[in-house]
Amino acid sequence: MGDRVGAIEAGGTKIVCAVGSDPADLEEVRFSTEDPASTIGRICEFFQSAGDIGAVGIGTFGPAGVDPAQPDTYGRILNTPKPGWKNSDLVTPLRESLGVPIHFDTDVNAAAFGEGKWGAAMGLHTFIYLTVGTGIGGGAIIGGRILHGALHPEIGHLRIPHNLQRDPFAGCCPFHGDCLEGLACGPAIEKRWGCDPRELPPDHEAWHLQAHYLGLAVANLSLTLSPQMIILGGGVMEQIQLFPLVRQELDQQLNGYLNPPEIVPPALGNRAGILGAVALAQQLIA
Ligand code: ZN
Repeated sequence: MGDRVGAIEAGGTKIVCAVGSDPADLEEVRFSTEDPASTIGRICEFFQSAGDIGAVGIGTFGPAGVDPAQPDTYGRILNTPKPGWKNSDLVTPLRESLGVPIHFDTDVNAAAFGEGKWGAAMGLHTFIYLTVGTGIGGGAIIGGRILHGALHPEIGHLRIPHNLQRDPFAGCCPFHGDCLEGLACGPAIEKRWGCDPRELPPDHEAWHLQAHYLGLAVANLSLTLSPQMIILGGGVMEQIQLFPLVRQELDQQLNGYLNPPEIVPPALGNRAGILGAVALAQQLIA
């Protein structure tokens, strides 16, 4: 079946498995993330009954071992606080059960790749996908290639200025306190304002502060990686009033020094990750 492949988006709370070849023909199932053995068992079962697939692409929560040249860590979830998952191997059991090549990457790198193939970043060579939700994470395509490095980018933990007079909230990152994620992920907004962020009106001060933090982050990313576009996805970015505010903050931060990249929502919505995993798998059989 040509370019029909399998795809997995592995999240801390749910797993999406899919087979197909493009956004129009994807067949998906989703189930909750349990312990590694039973979760991987369910994934293998799904693909064994799904018919012929040429390869599997995985976009996973992290941190994750994405470098095939490091066999001790490749294919594994690394230092996660999620009970039972630390050092668990996703790739070996799947490869043994399915006998097809596998691409293993982060969920945000997969989402970036998907947006490049079918979404907002089609035709671009250098762009970033940032998700702002329960946590904050970022993936990057640089010169047409996924950015890995020693491990992979951990954009969510960027340090940004924190004015304690404007915002006395100490931040909620268990590692850094007031890093970007600690100040601007969904749970940070909830803790700071004492309610579910979705209950805050669109003109609430919370969104101005949120845009300020995201503006600082995308300014830093613009200066370090020179992206043509930064895609902002995730549950918090469903507050679409944030987009013009973030663009304003970015303009202020850059202060005319360089042209700001486009700041846009994902064209594939919450399907960017699973579609990116499809596209990554297809690269293996192209
Ligand atoms: Zn942090």
